Amino acid sequence: MGEFELIRRYFASAACAAGQPGVVLGIGDDCALLQLAADEQLAISTDTLVAGVHFPQPCSAELLGQRALAVAASDLAGMGASPLGFTLALTLPQADAPWLQGFADGLQQMAAACGLSLIGGDTTRGPLSLTVTVFGRLPAGQALTRGAAQEGDLLCVGGELGAACAALELLLHGREAPAAQRDALLQAFWSPMPQLSLGEYLRGRASAALDISDGLLADCGHIAQASGVALQIEQAAVPLSAAAEALLGHTAAQLCALSGGDDYRLAFTLPAEHWPALSVAFPTVRRIGRVVAGTGVQLLDEQGCPLPLPVSGYQHFGAVHG
Ligand code: ADP
Ligand code: MG
Repeated sequence: MGEFELIRRYFASAACAAGQPGVVLGIGDDCALLQLAADEQLAISTDTLVAGVHFPQPCSAELLGQRALAVAASDLAGMGASPLGFTLALTLPQADAPWLQGFADGLQQMAAACGLSLIGGDTTRGPLSLTVTVFGRLPAGQALTRGAAQEGDLLCVGGELGAACAALELLLHGREAPAAQRDALLQAFWSPMPQLSLGEYLRGRASAALDISDGLLADCGHIAQASGVALQIEQAAVPLSAAAEALLGHTAAQLCALSGGDDYRLAFTLPAEHWPALSVAFPTVRRIGRVVAGTGVQLLDEQGCPLPLPVSGYQHFGAVHG
């Protein structure tokens, strides 16, 4: 199968390549064309996944298709952007039809879940690697950056943390788990659902936001630094994945939630007046702390006393991050 046949069969003819309002021209020409209104801005983000670095090999092509798009789309959520389209740069060792079909199916599922159209890409031969670039639209000036958290704001997360990190125990270390636990953890790793509607809701409400890819403490550190404030996190308020807790026990699951990566939930700071409506609209969101004067991230026990920060995360689980 040649390059153009491959593109036509698995990508140009995929349902997600059909386009949507805002996509003026998709796959097939030198560029895709996106239409923005005069008062909109284009949000752009790229993520690369390399075999053996960002995901274990061998793995399911379908799950890989889901994950490649999910991790990229999550950056749109972290910015509060509305999904528009994505490009796919695919490097493959060979054109294996069943693999490509599985990959295209997984990509299609995540594209449909996120409301993203496939608008172009590139296809080359080489060691397996995937680069997804996502495009989203934002009303001008309403992007959720990292730099505007204010003293007194609440610190919130979009939902349970720690599952993707706990899944690495199964994926990299061959640990066994009962089927229900296993399914929940592997789903969290392979198919994290970008919190796009939460991101859109937070426009004009949150003061700062990002998606958690490097771990809660590290990513909150990015907000603290960019905003010139300190973030206090009440350790007991951090919502833990039940499946991670069942697999690893409370203490290790907590470490996964604080320092493990790959959860792709949003972390954001919010003026307290917005909390009541937000907590009704998005019941998985939890308040985990607040913004205070100072620098860096502080972890507090139930009495409000500072706890030592885990030094460099859960090194055991660190191997897969790039
Ligand atoms: P060019 O010669 O301009 O680089 P290509 O021959 O690489 O174009 O690709 C032809 C068309 O197919 C382009 O519109 C490109 O965006 C699209 N395309 C190539 N690879 C992929 C892919 N993996 N997924 C989606 N579209 C792709
Ligand atoms: Mg090309």
